[in-house]
Amino acid sequence: MAENRYMNQVYLLTGGNMGNRSAVMADAIDRIAQKVGQVKASSALYETMAWGINDQPAFLNQVLLVHTSLSATQILETILEIEHEMGRKRMERYGPRIIDIDILLFNHEVINLPQLTVPHPFLHQRRFTLVPLAELAAEYTHPVLHQTIEELLANCIDTLDVKKYSR
Ligand code: AMP
Repeated sequence: MAENRYMNQVYLLTGGNMGNRSAVMADAIDRIAQKVGQVKASSALYETMAWGINDQPAFLNQVLLVHTSLSATQILETILEIEHEMGRKRMERYGPRIIDIDILLFNHEVINLPQLTVPHPFLHQRRFTLVPLAELAAEYTHPVLHQTIEELLANCIDTLDVKKYSR
């Protein structure tokens, strides 16, 4: 895909807590690169304990910066398709929700559609989102809250421990 001035910048969050988690995340990157656009940067993988249900495995999360000619709604359709493909493929072994992909930021736009809210409505409340996002976009100013990602992280009251994951 040739870069041009119509290129959109999207930050995606991938997450999963089933199966071979790091292999699942790598598979998601490949599919995103094939169907959404060029993966320009990726954060480290971060591990967060699942809360609520205690016997759930810990989650891995990662943020990706992708350059794409797709619109935000086209990106949403595409990531739902990827989630479906990956879930369906492994449904018998790992269950249908092996991967979750969210749109965190799309250029500097604010989008309020029935099916899509950007910036992601929980972005500023979750350390497992802010920590990897800050690695790639610390200086990005949230277009609704008017704070940088770094500031949102410093002000975040979420106490969940988010650790860098090494295989
Ligand atoms: P979930 O599986 O809980 O992440 O929810 C997925 C649904 O959330 C999708 O079908 C979308 O229509 C909706 N949604 C709203 N805003 C977003 C967003 N920023 N990124 C991804 N999904 C979104």
